[in-house]
Amino acid sequence: MTDSTHYEPKRSAELFEEAQRYIPGGVNSPVRAFRGVGGTPLFFSGGQGAYLLDEDSNRYVDYVGAWGPLILGHCHPAVISALQTQLSKGLGYGASTAAEVEIAKTICKLVPSIEKVRLVTSGTEATMSAIRLARGFTRRDKVVKFEGCYHGHVDGLLVKAGSGALTLGEPDSLGVPRSYTDQTFVLPYNDIDAMKQLFADHGGEIACIIVEPVAGNMNLVPPVPGFLETMRELCTQYESVLIFDEVMTGFRTALGGAQSVYGVTPDLTTLGKVIGGGLPVGAFGGRADIMNCIAPLGPVYQAGTLAGSPLAVAAGQAMLNEIQKPGFYEGLTQRTSQMLEGLQQRADAAGIAFTTNQVGGMFGCFFTEEKAVTRFEQVMACNVERFKRYFHLMLDNNVYLAPSAFEAGFVSAAHGDDEIRLTLDAAEKAFAAL
Ligand SMILES: *Cc1c(COP(=O)(O)O)cnc(C)c1O
Repeated sequence: MTDSTHYEPKRSAELFEEAQRYIPGGVNSPVRAFRGVGGTPLFFSGGQGAYLLDEDSNRYVDYVGAWGPLILGHCHPAVISALQTQLSKGLGYGASTAAEVEIAKTICKLVPSIEKVRLVTSGTEATMSAIRLARGFTRRDKVVKFEGCYHGHVDGLLVKAGSGALTLGEPDSLGVPRSYTDQTFVLPYNDIDAMKQLFADHGGEIACIIVEPVAGNMNLVPPVPGFLETMRELCTQYESVLIFDEVMTGFRTALGGAQSVYGVTPDLTTLGKVIGGGLPVGAFGGRADIMNCIAPLGPVYQAGTLAGSPLAVAAGQAMLNEIQKPGFYEGLTQRTSQMLEGLQQRADAAGIAFTTNQVGGMFGCFFTEEKAVTRFEQVMACNVERFKRYFHLMLDNNVYLAPSAFEAGFVSAAHGDDEIRLTLDAAEKAFAAL
């Protein structure tokens, strides 16, 4: 991109130079490299509440929130204090702790479909383990996923749709054997008929469906009425396992996750992001009869050296305590709506074709003429060049958005009226300049 408004803080640019000598692409996760927006990625030195501070001491209102976990904002006192307490007691014992029991109990209480839960260290590990478990439980191999949903970098899920609507997937990354993706069916998100047809043809082979109940990795696309309900019915009818990947939506869309918002009960749920309070953690859980198939109780193997890390559990528990306070989600949802309504008004006033999606504290912004975005093709057809300019204009005005047109945004409890005003002022300038 050749936009002259590129914001390139000096110290970040130097660090990025150096980083590229030692780290592939200069980053430890690809989206951080700003390839989706052009320009130099920022290097951050700190965060406080709703704000991030970069290495050049520029301050930004943060709508990434570490990609979701920081629902309380940066450095929330309850989380920091829980961590400090644990730090003085040790970093890990490679054995069980009382805190693990407490967080497991809390998760089972907040998400009633989870009767038993196991902690892991990332979202990828959670989805990988849940799929192995579903296969072990059903003694079937085939997995169904939806185009545009991301479930971490699990081999068999790095799949793109083949040419026909009902074909098996093809690898979406080098290094993924064809024989792995041959086990994965890929369907269009929100296409109820395609799902019914697939089950009519192959229902008896399908171990599980894995789905983001609100898709947050193709910008933000909520499920259409009947989509989640139909997959529940089909999984029950064909005795396949329904896995809701709530790594992003869990404790983010609502206290009980997307399953509580839409009233559809999965057999297994994967969690991550928010439950670690910002530390590396993931979890998978669900029906006791399925969870009891995992080692040491059952024949499905799963393990983790750092699983249930006392630090991650302390941060996660502190976070879960805070978000249970009365009115937490009402406030978060209301502030997110307020921000999005303000953006829409300003885009309309500037004559910019723009629409938004929201579920709880998650949101998506689309530069499109479409009034409602519910399908992957609609997301892909949005004006990405316009998003790139918008991203950099917002950055110039001290608002940090996810550096890709295909990522959801996150509001935290630390985003108050001042931060929303700053965001809307920045957006007004950005829309005028687009
Ligand atoms: C982020 C994410 C993952 C992967 O989690 P990692 O901790 O990055 O491995 C899986 N599923 C969904 C829905 C996600 O948003």
